Amino acid sequence: MARLSEKLPDPVPGDFFVDRTCIDCSTCPEMVPEVFEEGNGFSFVKAQPATEESAFRSAMALVACPTGSIGSQSKRHVKEAVHSFPEPIDGDVLFCGYTSEKSFGAWSTRSRRDPLCSESRGCTGSRADGLERSARGALE
Ligand code: SF4
Repeated sequence: MARLSEKLPDPVPGDFFVDRTCIDCSTCPEMVPEVFEEGNGFSFVKAQPATEESAFRSAMALVACPTGSIGSQSKRHVKEAVHSFPEPIDGDVLFCGYTSEKSFGAWSTRSRRDPLCSESRGCTGSRADGLERSARGALE
């Protein structure tokens, strides 16, 4: 779980923040480029979400972060974000919502016809296991 006491000096104060445990895996800037940006060895919040959709996507990035480095002071949308996965990303391919710290944020994916996440893309278990782990960290 991201800690406010370990918060990086984001240029914009507000609900979302990134802490020092970020491994710069690029997941959050890919998911919500209007909010997160890659820095020098870490990502940071460049702008707080301006819309509800952006706030929801930021909560999804919080859930997907492999190191639990994204925090939300309000925790608004986080429970719903956990249940918003799997998310269609490319045709038949779904993003399960779990990324692996061991492979610098490799995205767990599966096809619509396969109930399990792809082990080869870095997921260490089933979609349910991954989301459960993400949810535990996000809501602690
Ligand atoms: S998803 Fe997490 S580890 Fe990856 S860049 Fe964003 S804050 Fe860092």
